[in-house]
Formats: sequence, C-alpha cells, structure tokens
Amino acid sequence: MLAEGISEADVERWVQSACVLCSNGCALDIAVADGRMVGVRGRGVDRINHGRLGPKGLYGWQANASPERLTRPLVRRDGSLEEATWDEALDLVASRSQHLLNETGPSALGFYSTGQLFLEDYYTLGVIVRGGIGTNHLDGNTRLCTATADYALKETFGSDGQPGSYTDFDECDTLFLLGHNVAETQTVLWMRILDRLQGPDPPRLVVVDPRSTVPAREADIHLAIRNGTNLALLNAIQHELIVNGWIEKDFVAAHTLGFEKLRQTVMEYSPERAAEICGVDADQIREAARILGTGERLVSTCLQGVYQSHQATASACQVNNLNLLRGMIGKPGCAPFQLNGQPTAQNTRECGANGDPAGMRNWQNLDHIRELAAHWNVDPLDIPSWSPPTHAMQIFRYCEEGSIRFLWILCTNPAVSLPELHRIRSILEQERLFMVVSDAFLTETAQLADVVLPAAIWGEKMGVFTNQDRTVHLSEKAVDPPGEAKPDMEILIEYAKRLGLRDKDGQPLIKWSTPEECFEAFKQMTRGRPCDYTGLTYDKLRGGSGIQWPCNEKAPAGTERLYQDLRFNTTSDYTEDYGHDLLTGASHERKHHAELNPAGRAILKAAHYTPPFESVRDEYPLLLTTGRTVYHWHTRTKTRRAPQLQEAAPEAWVEISQADAAALGIAEGDLVRVTSPRGAVEAPVRISGIRDGVVFVPFHYGYWDTDAGHEPDGSGSAANELTMTAWDPVSKQPIFKTAAVKLERVGPGQAPAPAPRQTASAPVEP
Ligand code: SF4
Repeated sequence: MLAEGISEADVERWVQSACVLCSNGCALDIAVADGRMVGVRGRGVDRINHGRLGPKGLYGWQANASPERLTRPLVRRDGSLEEATWDEALDLVASRSQHLLNETGPSALGFYSTGQLFLEDYYTLGVIVRGGIGTNHLDGNTRLCTATADYALKETFGSDGQPGSYTDFDECDTLFLLGHNVAETQTVLWMRILDRLQGPDPPRLVVVDPRSTVPAREADIHLAIRNGTNLALLNAIQHELIVNGWIEKDFVAAHTLGFEKLRQTVMEYSPERAAEICGVDADQIREAARILGTGERLVSTCLQGVYQSHQATASACQVNNLNLLRGMIGKPGCAPFQLNGQPTAQNTRECGANGDPAGMRNWQNLDHIRELAAHWNVDPLDIPSWSPPTHAMQIFRYCEEGSIRFLWILCTNPAVSLPELHRIRSILEQERLFMVVSDAFLTETAQLADVVLPAAIWGEKMGVFTNQDRTVHLSEKAVDPPGEAKPDMEILIEYAKRLGLRDKDGQPLIKWSTPEECFEAFKQMTRGRPCDYTGLTYDKLRGGSGIQWPCNEKAPAGTERLYQDLRFNTTSDYTEDYGHDLLTGASHERKHHAELNPAGRAILKAAHYTPPFESVRDEYPLLLTTGRTVYHWHTRTKTRRAPQLQEAAPEAWVEISQADAAALGIAEGDLVRVTSPRGAVEAPVRISGIRDGVVFVPFHYGYWDTDAGHEPDGSGSAANELTMTAWDPVSKQPIFKTAAVKLERVGPGQAPAPAPRQTASAPVEP
C-alpha cells in the first residue's frame, strides 16, 4: 500500500516494524521517501502474518502525518491550554509531583498507561513508578482489555504467557471461538483460520456470539447465547465432556488438580439448564460439546465477550479447563488461547506497567520483590508490595475521592473508553486533580489535562513489542516525530531526572538513555522467569521473522509452545500468583497455595454461574453489548485520520434484530435513542442478524472530532455513556458486555444506516 502518486521506485528505504493496531502484531515494513512515511508492505518472512495485512494495518499509518498531531507541550493557563517549552511543562509536572510527595507521600500519585507503547517505554515507567516514586497506583488500560487473560492464565497455569502458538491454528482439527469476532478484531488471524476452513482438511468450528459475525456464519455450530451467560454454557459443555467420557482421565490425574470439585460443580449444569439460562437450544449445546469432545487437536479461544462480562475470570478459566480435560496442551494443534486485545498488552504485563511486579513476579512473594530490588539497586521495602497493585477502576475511584491528586495518563483516552462516562468526566474535570496526558493527539482526555506532552509514536521511535502468541518484533525508527514530540521513554527519563530519583548508591535510578540499553536491562531482569528474553537482541530481531519468548541459552531460537513437558508454573516459589476464589475475588495467600501443593500441575478451577449485575426489566427491557468494527481502533484517534477507514465506518450506529425492530416500529436507518440508567446515545439503526433482545453499539465514537470536543452536546454517541461501574472480582476488568437499556425511535433517518455492510453489522433484508 503506497500513498497516491508514489511508486516503488520513489521509496528510498523500507524500515522494519510491525503493526500496532491489534494484538496480532503483523510484521510490516514502512516505506520512507523524503523523510516521510509513504506506505507499508507486509513482511512475507514473518511467522505471524506471512506478508498479509488487514485494513487497519494497510491504512492506519497515515495518521502519523496528520496535521492535528501535537507538536509542542501544552500547559493550562487561566483555564486554557497554551503552548509551552518542554522545560516549562516538565518542571511543572515534576514540581507538582514533588510537592505531593513531600506533603502527602507517594500514594497521592497515580499513573494510567496503555497497551500501545513499546516494551522500553513500559519498563522505564514501571521502574520509575514502583522502584523510584514508590506508589502502588500504576495500571494500564489493559485492565479494560486483557486483565482477564492475565489472571486466567495465572489461575490455571501459574503464570501469564500464552501456552500455544499460531501454528496450532494451522494444525488443529477443532476450533472453538468464544466471545470474540476474530474477523474484525484480528483480521489476519482470521485469514489464517480461513486458509484452514476453505482448505483441504478444515477443522470443525464452534462459535459463541450473540451477533451473526462472519466467523459465526462459517461455523458448524453457532451458539448465539444471551450476553452474560458464558459460565453456564461452559459448565454445561464440561458436563457433557465428563458424562460422555470425552476426557483424558490419565492426563487429568497426572497433570492437574481440582477435578473432583469441577466435576461436582458442572454436574449441576445439564444442557437443559444451561439452555434456559443462555437462551439457546439444549441440543445445540450437546452438539457443540460433541464437536469439542471428539476431535483430536483442539484450539479454544476467548476474548472480550468473556473478559468484559461479569464472572470473566471464572469463565476464562473454564476455557483452559476444556483443553486440560481433553489432555490437549503442549503439543501441535492443541492449546487454549486467552487472546489479547491491544498490540503491546503483553509487554504492559511483562514490564510491570499494569501494576504486577516486572518479569511476571508475584507481589506476595518477598523473594520476587527482593530480586527486583537487586536489579534496580533499591531497598525491597521501597517497592510497593503491601497490597495488590491498584487496579484502574480503583485508581479512578481514588481520584474521585481525592486521595490521588496527580494522575499521569499515557497514550489512552479514558474520557471515552472507561464505563459510565458522565462519572469519568466529572473525575477528570476536578480542580483538585492535577492531570498530565502524554499523547500524539488532543483527545477528549487531553482536552481536560493540566499539562499535555506531545508523544512520538510508532514509526518515530525504536523498540520491541510482543504479540499474543509471545512473538517479539523489533520496530525501527522510520521518520522523525513531528515538531518537538518525543518518545515516551525519553519523556519519562527527563521526569525521573527532575525528581532526582536515585538508587541505593546515589546513582540515577534509570541507567539507560537509549531503547536498546533499556532492552538489555529488561532482559536481565527476565532471566529465569517465564518471559525469559535473555537470548534476544535487537540484531537478532533484524531481517527475519519475529521470535517467540522464552528465548534463552536453552532455547536460542525461541519457544514455540509452553508446557511441552506438561510441567506448569505452579510451584509456590515460582508461581506469579497464589490464586483467587473465582466468585468473590478473595486473594489466596502462600499458605493456601502451599497446602494445595500444585507442584507443577495445572489447576482446574470451578465456579457456579451467577446472573449479571444488571438484568433486563420492564423499564429497560433490552440487553446492551458494546464492541468494535474492523475499520476502527479504540477511540479512533488514529483510524479517524486514515480516510479509507473513516469512510468505511464514519459514525456511530445502533444494531438491533429484525424482530425487535418490528416490535418497536423501527426501520433501517431510523434515528433511535438508547437509554440506560446512566445515560443515552442517539444514532441511526442497523437491522442486523443480532440475537433478539440484544442491542449492539460500537464504542469507538467519542466527541473529539465534533464541535463539543470532549463531551456530548445534546445526545451522546459514545457507547460508554450507557455502561456501568462494575468489574470482575478477580481480574478487576470492567463490564462492557451487559447493561439493561431501552430503545426509542426519535425519527426517520436515511436508509441504509452508515454502518459497515460486509461485517457482523451486515444488514438483513426484511
Ligand atoms: S490484523 Fe491487527 S496487527 Fe494485523 S494488520 Fe490488522 S490491525 Fe494490524
């Protein structure tokens, strides 16, 4: 894909990188001419995408050159954001931090990062916040997307890290897609799956989704369950596996624990009972279980439909259970995938920028904290480990209550992406909260900041990042950032210098100044941990394909599959987490874990289904779910600036079924208002193949490109006006997939609605 008027002959350099618009991490080269990006091409040698790119990868790079990029720091003066020098802006940020550190202590400071920076940015952030400032209030927006993946992997296998590899999609004979629309969220992975489905030996496919997605249309069985009922369905499927003898008893006995409790739990979920809860046929559940129970190579996957529902971790653990019950892990074609959402979410977790101690260490294990302290040359007691890392929803609660008075938000837009937006706006607008935003654009959130720092983005800085099957890619710098924008790592190092952060010997806490030096320091910190990067170098990542961690002396070419020896990371000394009660979220302590004595066995966790926090009722008779379209990424700060993507999905829409449309007297394109107990959204209606009683609203459409700027002027368009402040008890991931709403016709509109027509949003004919 080259810019109009540019031919291959005009390209001066192709610069190696990978796409940062989803967790697939497709390898690509950036075309450069005259010092600017002029296109991209997929890298054919790469194991992830074999040269393919989806629409966001092909077109999204154009946002880098947008005239709306932030090019100078901004500081709020007399109520308005005005240009300032870097020294003015950073001095102000540092002096406000120092004032609060002196007056109140480190817990007055909070940091909210992202899943879209590079490993080197995150590691620098984590060391500054946890090793230098000493606050526990550090989390990423990965809390909204992959916290449950992290927790489900820890609960079952003892540590984060995807057990399988993308080649398992090539080799499986049975594929289970639960709660995600892979054709739109990870388009190139879907192309890989299509190779199989339309190839000579297609796997059988089971899809669970309340919408008629493209994968659902290709499935052998599509279970269009009521949102919020995943756990009941998964318990019934396991019920069927057990009663029909479709489990590997020897494997379960030798390599897992918890089977008896799981058996007792799922025995209460006959297909008939689950059918009633989930709103699908019992025979469909039986047939899905038969498919999952009788293949020889099973890949099971889940994502936001599970993670952003109540009982998220409980449900995600059952997906792990399916593969364990079937003895299908650690060998080709056999793996559960707790998929990621954001491109660099994995690195947020590895580097400790989501709050967990870096290197997949356990905050409750003092030896792990001592190891970190030794790497950073700080006192172990200065690293916050007195309570679980503060999760994002709690950080915002502390801001609301006033105990956090300084909040630095990096590369994320909570004024659109967090639930219950009127509340989030009221938190961010507070006078007493000093808010710093580093970003490339003046987002809805940046508009409310006290200081805005212009950040260099992908293609304008160097670093590595890791996709959802542990493949590490190097992204080289292709062009200079615009104006005075700087890489986040450099901004953070400047901040640390101004705060005078030092190690135990009085030396600067941050001992690197280039991304490569940072990577080398990070590597050493991962030695012996699940995410061992010690065998990787920037040079090794140049030229060929990305490489999967762990990569070390024992595995210099990387590791395709974890747990091939069927030894899991569950010994009490090594595990990243001692586990939780799935229903209450109560955190287990080391003594509980030691008593359980998993000793390298995987843990089958069980939980009973409970209804969602908010149920439909007379006043709000429909069930809301929010989600994505293939053409946009998050709050459209980049994809809105790529003309092809914006044209394909220009504005918000509301999706309902044909039966609901008929009952409410609504036609395709009519303007409707969706109202929940928390707010309202108005948009044209698309009548699609969605389940009856369910309303879908894409969450991409905020206000930065409207006259209103950061909030609705009249009716809202951001789906999170409707969602609720509630989260999963274990992973603390907020709930975006269930809320009770009502729908009213506001007036006639233009048919068809401006929603994509080739996707899950495809219109159905009356
Ligand atoms: S699938 Fe994801 S990583 Fe690949 S090109 Fe599309 S958005 Fe980028």
